[in-house]
Amino acid sequence: MLLLMKRTKIVKRRPRARPTSPAPAPRFDLVLRGGRVIDPSQSLDGVHDVGIRDGKIAAVLPAIEKRDGRESLDVRDRLVVPGLIDTHAHVYQHVTGAFGMNPDLVGIRSGVTTVVDQGGASPLTIQGFRKFIVEPAVTRVFSFVSNYLVGGLVGHRYTELYGPHGVNVRETIAAIEGNRDLVKGIKAHAEVGGYSRWGIETLKLAKEASRATNVPVYVHLGRLWREADGTRIDPDVVVPEMVPLLDPGDIIAHPFTKNTGAFVSREGQVHPMLFEAVEKGVRVDIGRGGHLSFAAARSVLDAGIVPFTVGADVHGYTIRRPGDGSWDGGYFDERGATRRDPARPIGGASVFSLVQVMNELLALGLALPHVIRMVTANAAMMLGLEGEIGTLAPGVAADVTVLARDVGSWSLEDSVGVQLTATERLRPEFALKAGRLHRADSPLLFESAAA
Ligand SMILES: [Zn+2]
Repeated sequence: MLLLMKRTKIVKRRPRARPTSPAPAPRFDLVLRGGRVIDPSQSLDGVHDVGIRDGKIAAVLPAIEKRDGRESLDVRDRLVVPGLIDTHAHVYQHVTGAFGMNPDLVGIRSGVTTVVDQGGASPLTIQGFRKFIVEPAVTRVFSFVSNYLVGGLVGHRYTELYGPHGVNVRETIAAIEGNRDLVKGIKAHAEVGGYSRWGIETLKLAKEASRATNVPVYVHLGRLWREADGTRIDPDVVVPEMVPLLDPGDIIAHPFTKNTGAFVSREGQVHPMLFEAVEKGVRVDIGRGGHLSFAAARSVLDAGIVPFTVGADVHGYTIRRPGDGSWDGGYFDERGATRRDPARPIGGASVFSLVQVMNELLALGLALPHVIRMVTANAAMMLGLEGEIGTLAPGVAADVTVLARDVGSWSLEDSVGVQLTATERLRPEFALKAGRLHRADSPLLFESAAA
C-alpha cells in the first residue's frame, strides 16, 4: 500500500489487548470509509462504506465496523463510484502511429479502470493487440474491432485503404467469434470523405458482420476524411442513409462535433431521423476527441437528445504531445491539419482525460448522477457487460474510482476555442482495479484547467 495518496489517511486496526478468545479474522481486506457512494446500477446514492475482500466487492453498507476491516481508507468528502469505463479510447500503441496512447495513461492512471479501443485493432491484428496491449496493461482493455483489414494502422493516414475493398466480412466475423472475451463490437464510419468515394457501402458490410455475430457497430459520424478530388458532397445526406441501417444497441458517435455531416445540420437543427434512431434504441456516445463544440452540444441537448455514454476519445492528435519526435501532423483534413502548429493540439485543451469530459458535461448542465451513470452502468450495457463491470454489486471485481469534488472557477475550452466556465470539478484521486490501489497520476490530468 505504498502507493497511497498523501491526502488519504490509512487506519490500521489495532489488535485488541489480551483477547479472551482468538479475535475473528477481519471480514474485509480493505474498507473505503465514509464516501458518497454513487452506483446507478443499484440506484445507490448516499454515504456508505465499501468492503472489499479477495479483490471483489464484498459489501456496501451504511457503516462497517472498524474491526471488520484489515485496512481502512478514509474517503469522506469524496465520491466513490464504480470503476470508470471509457468507451472510446485509442490504445494500440506503436501500431497506430501518433494516434495510439499508452492504455494505462488514459486508463488506470487517469482513474479509469476500463477502456474500449475503437478501431485500432483490425481483424488481422487483433492477436497482437491482445498480446502486446491487453495482457500487459493494468487497465481492463476491450476492443471494438476495426471494420477494415487495415485497422488504425499509423493513425488512419491512408484514406484509400478505408473503402469496401478493404473490408472482409468473413475475417471480421472470425475475429469476433475467436475473441469474444475481448471484442465487444465493430468500429465503422459514416462520414463525408468516405461517402464521396464509396457511398454508405462500408457501413453495410459492418452491419453484415454485426448481425452475424450479434455485436453492435459503433459509427463515427461527422466529417473525418476530405472528399475525393473533384467531388462535392452535401454533408447532410449521410444521416438519412445511415439511420435505416442501424439496429437497437448500435452506437452513433460524436454528437457534439464541430464538423459537418453529423447531428447538427448546416441549418443548425438536429436531423429528425436521429430522434427516430434514439427512439428505436440506437445509443449515442460523445467521443469527445478533437470534435467538441459547446454550441453543437447545446443544440443537441436542447433538442432533448442525451448521450448514453461518454467516450473521451483521447488520442495523440488531440493532445499536446511531448517533443519526442513522434508527432506527425493530423489526418482529419490532410490539407489543413498537416500545416497546424504541432504545439497547438486540435482538441482545444492541451491535455484531457475522461474525467475532464465529465466536467465539461457538468458545466453543460447534466446532473452528476447521470454523468456517473454514463461512464459506469450505461457503458457496461454498451459492452454487454452489465452486472460484471460498472457496478459495485457484491461479488463483482472491485473496480472502484474515488473522485474529489473541488469547488471554484475553471475555464473549459472546446475544440474551436470557445470558453465555458465551470464552478465545480471532479478530480480522480485513485482507483482500485480488482481491489488493488493505483494512484491517479497521469500527465493527462488537468494541466490545462487553470483556475
Ligand atoms: Zn476516436
